[in-house]
Amino acid sequence: MKKANFMKTLTLALALGLAASTCYAKPAFNNENVLNEYAKATMQRKAVALGYPCSQDLQLSGFYKWMLKHKLDTAMINNAGDPFTEHSHVNALKFEKDVLEYFAPKYGFAKEDMWGLISFSGTDGNNHGIYFGANYLKNLTKQNPIVYISKEAHYSNMRLCDLQNLEFKMIDTDRYGRMLPEAFEQALDPSRPALVVYAMGTTFKGAMDDQAKLNAIIAKKKPVAVYKHVDAALFGGYLPFTKMKSMVDKNVQNYDSIAVSGHKFLGLDEPAGLFLTTKEVLKKQKAFDIPYLNSEMPMINCSRSATAPLKLWWLINHGADERWTQEASEMLEITEWLCNELKSMNYPYFVGEASNTVYMKRPSMAIVDKYGLAMDYDKRLGGDLAHIIVMQHVNKKLLQQFLKDLQAEVSK
Ligand SMILES: *Cc1c(COP(=O)(O)O)cnc(C)c1O
Repeated sequence: MKKANFMKTLTLALALGLAASTCYAKPAFNNENVLNEYAKATMQRKAVALGYPCSQDLQLSGFYKWMLKHKLDTAMINNAGDPFTEHSHVNALKFEKDVLEYFAPKYGFAKEDMWGLISFSGTDGNNHGIYFGANYLKNLTKQNPIVYISKEAHYSNMRLCDLQNLEFKMIDTDRYGRMLPEAFEQALDPSRPALVVYAMGTTFKGAMDDQAKLNAIIAKKKPVAVYKHVDAALFGGYLPFTKMKSMVDKNVQNYDSIAVSGHKFLGLDEPAGLFLTTKEVLKKQKAFDIPYLNSEMPMINCSRSATAPLKLWWLINHGADERWTQEASEMLEITEWLCNELKSMNYPYFVGEASNTVYMKRPSMAIVDKYGLAMDYDKRLGGDLAHIIVMQHVNKKLLQQFLKDLQAEVSK
Protein backbone atom coordinates (compact mmCIF):
# COMPACT_ATOMS: atom_id res chain seq x y z
CA MET A 1 0.00 0.00 0.00
CA LYS A 2 1.33 3.50 -0.87
CA LYS A 3 2.08 5.77 2.04
CA ALA A 4 -0.62 8.32 1.07
CA ASN A 5 -3.22 5.57 0.79
CA PHE A 6 -2.09 4.12 4.08
CA MET A 7 -2.53 7.50 5.79
CA LYS A 8 -5.99 7.86 4.23
CA THR A 9 -7.01 4.43 5.49
CA LEU A 10 -5.61 5.19 8.92
CA THR A 11 -7.48 8.50 9.17
CA LEU A 12 -10.69 6.82 8.01
CA ALA A 13 -10.26 4.03 10.55
CA LEU A 14 -9.65 6.53 13.34
CA ALA A 15 -12.65 8.60 12.30
CA LEU A 16 -14.86 5.51 12.19
CA GLY A 17 -13.54 4.39 15.56
CA LEU A 18 -14.32 7.79 17.02
CA ALA A 19 -17.81 7.75 15.46
CA ALA A 20 -18.41 4.28 16.83
CA SER A 21 -17.33 5.20 20.31
CA THR A 22 -19.62 8.21 20.32
CA CYS A 23 -22.57 6.25 18.84
CA TYR A 24 -22.54 3.41 21.32
CA ALA A 25 -23.03 4.38 24.92
CA LYS A 26 -21.01 2.16 27.18
CA PRO A 27 -23.16 -0.11 29.31
CA ALA A 28 -23.17 1.21 32.86
CA PHE A 29 -22.05 -1.92 34.67
CA ASN A 30 -21.04 0.15 37.66
CA ASN A 31 -24.49 1.53 38.20
CA GLU A 32 -26.77 -0.44 40.52
CA ASN A 33 -29.69 1.81 39.54
CA VAL A 34 -29.80 0.21 36.12
CA LEU A 35 -30.56 -3.10 37.79
CA ASN A 36 -33.00 -1.60 40.24
CA GLU A 37 -34.97 0.13 37.51
CA TYR A 38 -35.06 -3.08 35.53
CA ALA A 39 -36.38 -4.94 38.57
CA LYS A 40 -39.12 -2.39 39.15
CA ALA A 41 -40.19 -2.34 35.51
CA THR A 42 -40.25 -6.14 35.37
CA MET A 43 -42.50 -6.37 38.41
CA GLN A 44 -44.88 -3.85 36.82
CA ARG A 45 -44.97 -5.63 33.47
CA LYS A 46 -45.44 -9.12 34.90
CA ALA A 47 -48.49 -8.01 36.87
CA VAL A 48 -50.44 -7.22 33.69
CA ALA A 49 -49.01 -9.89 31.38
CA LEU A 50 -52.00 -11.47 29.63
CA GLY A 51 -50.55 -12.73 26.37
CA TYR A 52 -47.99 -15.40 27.27
CA PRO A 53 -48.38 -18.84 28.80
CA CYS A 54 -46.25 -18.38 31.89
CA SER A 55 -47.49 -18.23 35.43
CA GLN A 56 -46.46 -14.93 36.98
CA ASP A 57 -47.52 -16.07 40.41
CA LEU A 58 -44.50 -18.11 41.41
CA GLN A 59 -44.09 -19.72 44.81
CA LEU A 60 -40.33 -20.19 45.02
CA SER A 61 -39.34 -17.80 47.83
CA GLY A 62 -39.05 -20.68 50.30
CA PHE A 63 -36.87 -22.58 47.87
CA TYR A 64 -34.42 -19.69 47.62
CA LYS A 65 -34.34 -19.33 51.42
CA TRP A 66 -33.45 -23.02 51.66
CA MET A 67 -30.69 -22.60 49.04
CA LEU A 68 -29.19 -19.63 50.89
CA LYS A 69 -29.49 -21.28 54.29
CA HIS A 70 -27.27 -24.09 53.06
CA LYS A 71 -25.04 -21.83 50.96
CA LEU A 72 -25.98 -23.83 47.89
CA ASP A 73 -25.75 -20.58 45.96
CA THR A 74 -21.98 -21.10 46.06
CA ALA A 75 -22.15 -24.54 44.44
CA MET A 76 -22.23 -25.48 40.76
CA ILE A 77 -24.57 -28.45 40.79
CA ASN A 78 -24.75 -30.15 37.42
CA ASN A 79 -27.14 -32.88 36.32
CA ALA A 80 -24.92 -34.31 33.61
CA GLY A 81 -25.86 -37.93 33.12
CA ASP A 82 -28.83 -40.23 33.12
CA PRO A 83 -31.13 -39.59 36.10
CA PHE A 84 -31.84 -43.32 36.25
CA THR A 85 -28.26 -44.44 36.76
CA GLU A 86 -26.16 -43.73 39.83
CA HIS A 87 -23.57 -40.99 39.69
CA SER A 88 -21.90 -39.80 42.81
CA HIS A 89 -20.87 -36.28 42.28
CA VAL A 90 -22.13 -32.74 42.71
CA ASN A 91 -25.51 -33.31 41.14
CA ALA A 92 -29.22 -33.55 41.93
CA LEU A 93 -30.00 -36.55 39.74
CA LYS A 94 -31.86 -38.33 42.53
CA PHE A 95 -34.28 -35.41 42.69
CA GLU A 96 -34.69 -35.41 38.94
CA LYS A 97 -35.60 -39.11 39.06
CA ASP A 98 -38.07 -38.52 41.90
CA VAL A 99 -39.76 -35.70 40.03
CA LEU A 100 -40.06 -37.79 36.87
CA GLU A 101 -41.54 -40.65 38.90
CA TYR A 102 -44.02 -38.26 40.46
CA PHE A 103 -45.16 -37.07 37.03
CA ALA A 104 -45.06 -40.45 35.24
CA PRO A 105 -48.45 -41.74 36.45
CA LYS A 106 -50.05 -38.35 35.72
CA TYR A 107 -49.42 -39.10 32.05
CA GLY A 108 -50.21 -42.79 32.33
CA PHE A 109 -46.64 -44.10 32.31
CA ALA A 110 -45.91 -47.11 34.50
CA LYS A 111 -42.94 -46.25 36.69
CA GLU A 112 -40.98 -49.32 35.60
CA ASP A 113 -41.53 -48.65 31.90
CA MET A 114 -40.76 -44.95 31.93
CA TRP A 115 -37.63 -43.08 31.03
CA GLY A 116 -37.23 -39.34 30.85
CA LEU A 117 -35.47 -36.22 31.91
CA ILE A 118 -36.03 -32.68 33.08
CA SER A 119 -35.37 -30.84 29.86
CA PHE A 120 -34.38 -27.26 29.25
CA SER A 121 -37.78 -26.30 27.81
CA GLY A 122 -40.74 -27.43 25.76
CA THR A 123 -38.54 -27.02 22.71
CA ASP A 124 -35.87 -29.24 24.23
CA GLY A 125 -38.55 -31.83 25.03
CA ASN A 126 -39.72 -31.72 21.42
CA ASN A 127 -36.12 -32.05 20.28
CA HIS A 128 -35.84 -35.24 22.29
CA GLY A 129 -39.24 -36.48 21.11
CA ILE A 130 -38.35 -36.00 17.46
CA TYR A 131 -34.80 -37.33 17.88
CA PHE A 132 -35.87 -40.37 19.91
CA GLY A 133 -38.75 -41.00 17.53
CA ALA A 134 -36.58 -40.85 14.43
CA ASN A 135 -33.97 -43.17 15.97
CA TYR A 136 -36.65 -45.57 17.14
CA LEU A 137 -38.20 -45.76 13.68
CA LYS A 138 -34.84 -46.07 11.91
CA ASN A 139 -33.84 -48.83 14.29
CA LEU A 140 -37.06 -50.75 13.55
CA THR A 141 -37.26 -50.26 9.80
CA LYS A 142 -33.81 -49.12 8.57
CA GLN A 143 -35.72 -46.38 6.79
CA ASN A 144 -35.89 -42.65 7.35
CA PRO A 145 -39.25 -41.52 8.69
CA ILE A 146 -41.50 -38.73 7.49
CA VAL A 147 -42.61 -36.32 10.20
CA TYR A 148 -46.25 -35.17 10.12
CA ILE A 149 -47.16 -32.02 11.91
CA SER A 150 -49.96 -29.50 11.79
CA LYS A 151 -49.32 -26.13 10.20
CA GLU A 152 -50.35 -24.37 13.39
CA ALA A 153 -48.17 -26.43 15.73
CA HIS A 154 -45.40 -24.63 17.60
CA TYR A 155 -42.65 -23.53 15.22
CA SER A 156 -40.02 -25.34 17.28
CA ASN A 157 -41.18 -28.63 15.78
CA MET A 158 -40.54 -27.46 12.22
CA ARG A 159 -37.23 -25.91 13.27
CA LEU A 160 -36.19 -29.17 14.92
CA CYS A 161 -37.11 -31.29 11.89
CA ASP A 162 -34.95 -28.96 9.86
CA LEU A 163 -32.13 -29.18 12.40
CA GLN A 164 -32.33 -32.97 12.47
CA ASN A 165 -32.49 -33.10 8.70
CA LEU A 166 -35.82 -34.96 8.68
CA GLU A 167 -38.33 -34.86 5.89
CA PHE A 168 -41.55 -33.35 7.20
CA LYS A 169 -45.04 -32.66 5.94
CA MET A 170 -47.05 -29.80 7.30
CA ILE A 171 -50.71 -30.66 7.44
CA ASP A 172 -53.51 -28.15 6.90
CA THR A 173 -55.65 -27.15 9.84
CA ASP A 174 -59.27 -26.25 10.31
CA ARG A 175 -60.06 -22.67 11.22
CA TYR A 176 -59.74 -23.50 14.92
CA GLY A 177 -56.19 -24.75 14.48
CA ARG A 178 -56.69 -28.52 14.54
CA MET A 179 -54.98 -30.84 12.07
CA LEU A 180 -57.46 -31.74 9.32
CA PRO A 181 -57.98 -35.53 9.34
CA GLU A 182 -58.67 -35.61 5.58
CA ALA A 183 -55.46 -33.73 4.87
CA PHE A 184 -53.52 -36.04 7.18
CA GLU A 185 -54.97 -39.12 5.51
CA GLN A 186 -54.00 -37.82 2.10
CA ALA A 187 -50.45 -36.95 3.20
CA LEU A 188 -49.74 -40.14 5.14
CA ASP A 189 -47.35 -42.36 3.17
CA PRO A 190 -47.75 -45.96 4.40
CA SER A 191 -44.52 -47.09 2.71
CA ARG A 192 -42.43 -44.97 5.07
CA PRO A 193 -42.26 -44.92 8.87
CA ALA A 194 -44.42 -42.12 10.28
CA LEU A 195 -43.35 -39.80 13.09
CA VAL A 196 -46.46 -37.89 14.07
CA VAL A 197 -46.25 -34.83 16.30
CA TYR A 198 -49.58 -34.08 17.94
CA ALA A 199 -50.17 -30.54 19.12
CA MET A 200 -51.89 -30.33 22.48
CA GLY A 201 -52.36 -26.64 22.45
CA THR A 202 -51.16 -24.90 19.30
CA THR A 203 -49.14 -21.76 19.85
CA PHE A 204 -51.74 -19.18 19.09
CA LYS A 205 -55.19 -20.79 19.19
CA GLY A 206 -54.48 -23.38 21.84
CA ALA A 207 -55.96 -26.05 19.58
CA MET A 208 -55.65 -29.75 20.26
CA ASP A 209 -55.24 -32.23 17.44
CA ASP A 210 -57.92 -34.90 17.60
CA GLN A 211 -55.69 -37.85 18.42
CA ALA A 212 -58.49 -40.43 18.35
CA LYS A 213 -59.49 -39.47 14.81
CA LEU A 214 -55.91 -39.23 13.58
CA ASN A 215 -54.97 -42.53 15.23
CA ALA A 216 -57.90 -44.18 13.45
CA ILE A 217 -56.43 -43.00 10.14
CA ILE A 218 -53.05 -44.43 11.10
CA ALA A 219 -54.71 -47.75 11.99
CA LYS A 220 -56.47 -47.77 8.62
CA LYS A 221 -53.47 -46.85 6.45
CA LYS A 222 -50.95 -48.88 8.48
CA PRO A 223 -47.59 -47.20 7.86
CA VAL A 224 -44.61 -49.56 8.22
CA ALA A 225 -43.95 -48.15 11.69
CA VAL A 226 -45.31 -45.29 13.76
CA TYR A 227 -44.04 -43.07 16.57
CA LYS A 228 -46.27 -40.48 18.22
CA HIS A 229 -44.87 -37.53 20.08
CA VAL A 230 -47.16 -35.13 21.93
CA ASP A 231 -46.21 -31.47 22.21
CA ALA A 232 -48.13 -30.48 25.32
CA ALA A 233 -45.94 -27.62 26.51
CA LEU A 234 -48.75 -25.62 28.09
CA PHE A 235 -51.80 -27.92 28.28
CA GLY A 236 -49.74 -30.86 29.50
CA GLY A 237 -49.02 -28.85 32.65
CA TYR A 238 -52.59 -28.41 33.84
CA LEU A 239 -54.64 -31.16 32.20
CA PRO A 240 -53.37 -33.92 34.56
CA PHE A 241 -54.83 -31.89 37.42
CA THR A 242 -58.32 -31.67 35.91
CA LYS A 243 -61.22 -34.00 35.18
CA MET A 244 -59.97 -34.06 31.60
CA LYS A 245 -56.75 -35.83 32.54
CA SER A 246 -57.42 -38.71 30.15
CA MET A 247 -56.54 -36.32 27.31
CA VAL A 248 -52.87 -36.57 28.30
CA ASP A 249 -53.04 -40.18 29.45
CA LYS A 250 -50.74 -42.40 27.43
CA ASN A 251 -53.05 -45.38 28.05
CA VAL A 252 -55.88 -43.53 26.36
CA GLN A 253 -54.02 -41.58 23.69
CA ASN A 254 -51.38 -44.21 23.05
CA TYR A 255 -48.43 -41.91 22.38
CA ASP A 256 -44.73 -42.70 22.74
CA SER A 257 -43.39 -39.50 24.25
CA ILE A 258 -44.57 -36.20 25.62
CA ALA A 259 -42.99 -32.79 26.19
CA VAL A 260 -44.29 -30.33 28.79
CA SER A 261 -42.83 -26.94 29.76
CA GLY A 262 -41.82 -26.41 33.39
CA HIS A 263 -42.00 -22.62 33.28
CA LYS A 264 -45.55 -22.37 31.99
CA PHE A 265 -48.21 -23.90 34.24
CA LEU A 266 -45.81 -25.67 36.61
CA GLY A 267 -44.43 -22.36 37.77
CA LEU A 268 -40.66 -22.47 37.47
CA ASP A 269 -38.75 -19.23 37.09
CA GLU A 270 -36.31 -20.63 34.54
CA PRO A 271 -37.02 -22.33 31.21
CA ALA A 272 -37.36 -26.04 31.89
CA GLY A 273 -39.55 -28.98 30.91
CA LEU A 274 -40.50 -32.60 31.27
CA PHE A 275 -39.71 -35.18 28.65
CA LEU A 276 -41.20 -38.62 29.21
CA THR A 277 -40.99 -41.70 27.07
CA THR A 278 -40.86 -45.49 27.49
CA LYS A 279 -37.96 -47.85 28.17
CA GLU A 280 -38.86 -49.53 24.89
CA VAL A 281 -38.11 -46.30 23.02
CA LEU A 282 -34.95 -45.77 25.07
CA LYS A 283 -33.68 -49.23 24.10
CA LYS A 284 -33.85 -48.32 20.44
CA GLN A 285 -31.62 -45.27 20.74
CA LYS A 286 -28.06 -45.07 19.53
CA ALA A 287 -25.67 -45.94 22.32
CA PHE A 288 -22.74 -43.63 22.80
CA ASP A 289 -20.54 -44.87 25.57
CA ILE A 290 -19.14 -41.93 27.53
CA PRO A 291 -16.10 -43.07 29.52
CA TYR A 292 -15.83 -40.28 32.06
CA LEU A 293 -19.49 -40.47 33.02
CA ASN A 294 -19.29 -44.25 33.29
CA SER A 295 -22.54 -44.66 31.43
CA GLU A 296 -24.38 -44.26 28.21
CA MET A 297 -25.77 -40.84 27.46
CA PRO A 298 -29.00 -41.18 25.55
CA MET A 299 -29.98 -37.54 25.95
CA ILE A 300 -28.86 -34.75 23.65
CA ASN A 301 -27.38 -32.37 26.23
CA CYS A 302 -24.48 -33.14 28.50
CA SER A 303 -24.72 -30.59 31.33
CA ARG A 304 -28.26 -30.02 32.49
CA SER A 305 -29.91 -27.90 35.15
CA ALA A 306 -29.94 -29.26 38.69
CA THR A 307 -31.92 -26.33 40.03
CA ALA A 308 -34.97 -27.04 37.85
CA PRO A 309 -35.46 -30.54 39.31
CA LEU A 310 -34.67 -29.27 42.80
CA LYS A 311 -37.30 -26.54 42.46
CA LEU A 312 -39.91 -29.01 41.22
CA TRP A 313 -39.06 -31.41 44.05
CA TRP A 314 -39.32 -28.55 46.53
CA LEU A 315 -42.69 -27.46 45.10
CA ILE A 316 -44.08 -30.99 45.20
CA ASN A 317 -42.85 -31.31 48.77
CA HIS A 318 -44.69 -28.09 49.61
CA GLY A 319 -48.18 -29.02 48.51
CA ALA A 320 -47.90 -28.39 44.77
CA ASP A 321 -50.23 -31.26 43.91
CA GLU A 322 -53.19 -29.67 45.72
CA ARG A 323 -52.24 -26.21 44.54
CA TRP A 324 -51.94 -27.25 40.89
CA THR A 325 -55.34 -28.95 41.12
CA GLN A 326 -56.87 -25.81 42.57
CA GLU A 327 -55.13 -23.48 40.10
CA ALA A 328 -56.09 -25.60 37.08
CA SER A 329 -59.76 -25.46 38.01
CA GLU A 330 -59.62 -21.72 38.75
CA MET A 331 -57.90 -20.98 35.44
CA LEU A 332 -60.54 -22.82 33.45
CA GLU A 333 -63.33 -21.24 35.47
CA ILE A 334 -61.93 -17.76 34.81
CA THR A 335 -61.47 -18.61 31.13
CA GLU A 336 -65.16 -19.45 30.92
CA TRP A 337 -66.05 -16.27 32.75
CA LEU A 338 -63.94 -14.21 30.33
CA CYS A 339 -65.67 -15.84 27.36
CA ASN A 340 -69.08 -15.04 28.84
CA GLU A 341 -68.07 -11.42 29.34
CA LEU A 342 -66.88 -11.14 25.73
CA LYS A 343 -70.06 -12.81 24.55
CA SER A 344 -72.21 -10.34 26.44
CA MET A 345 -70.22 -7.52 24.85
CA ASN A 346 -70.81 -9.12 21.47
CA TYR A 347 -67.07 -9.11 20.95
CA PRO A 348 -65.81 -11.80 18.52
CA TYR A 349 -63.79 -14.45 20.36
CA PHE A 350 -62.89 -18.14 20.14
CA VAL A 351 -61.75 -20.79 22.57
CA GLY A 352 -60.79 -24.43 22.03
CA GLU A 353 -61.64 -27.51 24.05
CA ALA A 354 -60.09 -27.68 27.55
CA SER A 355 -58.22 -24.51 26.66
CA ASN A 356 -57.20 -21.51 28.76
CA THR A 357 -56.37 -19.55 25.60
CA VAL A 358 -59.01 -17.08 24.44
CA TYR A 359 -58.38 -15.58 21.04
CA MET A 360 -60.33 -12.70 19.69
CA LYS A 361 -60.56 -9.93 17.17
CA ARG A 362 -57.43 -7.88 17.77
CA PRO A 363 -57.98 -4.74 19.87
CA SER A 364 -55.96 -1.55 19.28
CA MET A 365 -52.19 -1.59 19.62
CA ALA A 366 -52.55 0.48 22.78
CA ILE A 367 -54.39 -2.41 24.46
CA VAL A 368 -52.15 -5.04 22.87
CA ASP A 369 -49.08 -3.27 24.31
CA LYS A 370 -50.57 -2.50 27.69
CA TYR A 371 -51.39 -6.16 28.36
CA GLY A 372 -48.63 -7.78 26.35
CA LEU A 373 -51.10 -9.63 24.11
CA ALA A 374 -49.74 -11.97 21.45
CA MET A 375 -50.91 -11.39 17.90
CA ASP A 376 -51.74 -13.48 14.86
CA TYR A 377 -53.63 -13.24 11.60
CA ASP A 378 -56.15 -15.66 10.15
CA LYS A 379 -58.26 -14.74 7.16
CA ARG A 380 -60.73 -17.51 8.01
CA LEU A 381 -61.53 -15.80 11.30
CA GLY A 382 -61.81 -12.28 10.00
CA GLY A 383 -58.14 -11.25 9.95
CA ASP A 384 -56.23 -9.68 12.82
CA LEU A 385 -56.35 -11.62 16.09
CA ALA A 386 -54.87 -11.42 19.58
CA HIS A 387 -55.01 -13.83 22.46
CA ILE A 388 -55.17 -13.88 26.22
CA ILE A 389 -53.83 -16.87 28.11
CA VAL A 390 -55.46 -17.28 31.49
CA MET A 391 -52.57 -18.32 33.71
CA GLN A 392 -52.43 -18.37 37.52
CA HIS A 393 -51.91 -14.63 37.95
CA VAL A 394 -54.71 -13.69 35.56
CA ASN A 395 -57.59 -12.98 37.92
CA LYS A 396 -61.00 -11.43 37.33
CA LYS A 397 -59.82 -8.06 38.61
CA LEU A 398 -57.10 -7.85 35.97
CA LEU A 399 -59.48 -9.05 33.28
CA GLN A 400 -62.12 -6.55 34.36
CA GLN A 401 -59.56 -3.81 33.80
CA PHE A 402 -58.84 -5.26 30.35
CA LEU A 403 -62.55 -5.55 29.53
CA LYS A 404 -63.12 -1.97 30.61
CA ASP A 405 -60.39 -0.77 28.26
CA LEU A 406 -61.84 -2.93 25.50
CA GLN A 407 -65.38 -1.66 26.12
CA ALA A 408 -64.19 1.96 26.00
CA GLU A 409 -62.60 1.28 22.64
CA VAL A 410 -65.63 -0.55 21.21
CA SER A 411 -68.08 2.16 22.24
CA LYS A 412 -65.96 4.95 20.74
C1 LIG B 1 -44.52 -22.78 24.60
C2 LIG B 1 -44.67 -23.90 23.65
C3 LIG B 1 -43.56 -24.52 23.08
C4 LIG B 1 -42.18 -24.04 23.34
O1 LIG B 1 -41.85 -24.30 24.63
P1 LIG B 1 -40.61 -23.58 25.32
O2 LIG B 1 -40.68 -24.16 26.68
O3 LIG B 1 -40.88 -22.12 25.25
O4 LIG B 1 -39.41 -23.97 24.56
C5 LIG B 1 -43.75 -25.60 22.25
N1 LIG B 1 -44.99 -26.04 21.97
C6 LIG B 1 -46.07 -25.48 22.49
C7 LIG B 1 -47.41 -26.07 22.17
C8 LIG B 1 -45.96 -24.38 23.35
O5 LIG B 1 -47.06 -23.85 23.89
